[in-house]
Amino acid sequence: MNPTGPHSNGDKPDAGEVIRVTDLHKYYDLGETRVHALRGVSLEIRVGEFVAIMGASGSGKSTFMNILGCLDKPSSGTYLLEGVDVSRHDKSALARIRNQKIGFVFQGFNLLARTTAQENAELPTLYTRISKEEREKRAADSLAMVGLAERAHHFPSQMSGGQQQRVAIARALVNRPSILLADEPTGNLDSRTSVEIIAILQKLNESGLTIVLVTHEPDIAQFARRVLVFRDGKIRKDDPVINRPFALDVLKTLPTLED
Ligand code: ADP
Ligand code: MG
Repeated sequence: MNPTGPHSNGDKPDAGEVIRVTDLHKYYDLGETRVHALRGVSLEIRVGEFVAIMGASGSGKSTFMNILGCLDKPSSGTYLLEGVDVSRHDKSALARIRNQKIGFVFQGFNLLARTTAQENAELPTLYTRISKEEREKRAADSLAMVGLAERAHHFPSQMSGGQQQRVAIARALVNRPSILLADEPTGNLDSRTSVEIIAILQKLNESGLTIVLVTHEPDIAQFARRVLVFRDGKIRKDDPVINRPFALDVLKTLPTLED
């Protein structure tokens, strides 16, 4: 446990800490009613972790991810991202942090339809100051990391769901984020394709990327290094995964549907 509270000024996080949230609460005000979506969430995530978040629908997973991803702010509590308290940042400051430090992958791939894989992957770099050459190089590198170097000039309609999700992962990586947040990234994919996507996430994690993944599938959660279970806006379980499988090994045991 960490003896220093997040409110004390002498609270210096060590270099290995990416995320520290303390007593997060989130309320949604809906006219007459008020939903208490997060009810005191505290957690630390270190560099190189691969955390899966499970829990029933409505338990607060997406609310939590949106806060981690600087898409939304907590109603109370603190959020330190690489030691910086972002819980009080205004919208434009949050947007800047988000673009620099966070990579997002969602269930829907959210690619631009009339835009090639290369151009989709380049999109987040348009808000940065890097040169055109560097942008193109980074996008090409990201596509290579997800095994799509050969498809750079394909359009989403020419790609399978798994390939589209890989483009979305490349896009998420292009600004070299501190953390990759994936909310149900395999929710629209068949089981073999899901494991293929997880194999890519495991490979990225092996090379040092910190990952937080929401899934409702226990089989998918087991590929992470640590599993959290949310219930009613609180973390009810937080356990390391013992003997986690390697997705590349599991793929060898699964039948191929296409190809
Ligand atoms: P999960 O991702 O685990 O399904 P959510 O974080 O989406 O859970 O939702 C947690 C609770 O907050 C639910 O009761 C949900 O209805 C409510 N909620 C989520 N987002 C909003 C919103 N934008 N406005 C109002 N209520 C919301
Ligand atoms: Mg959700």
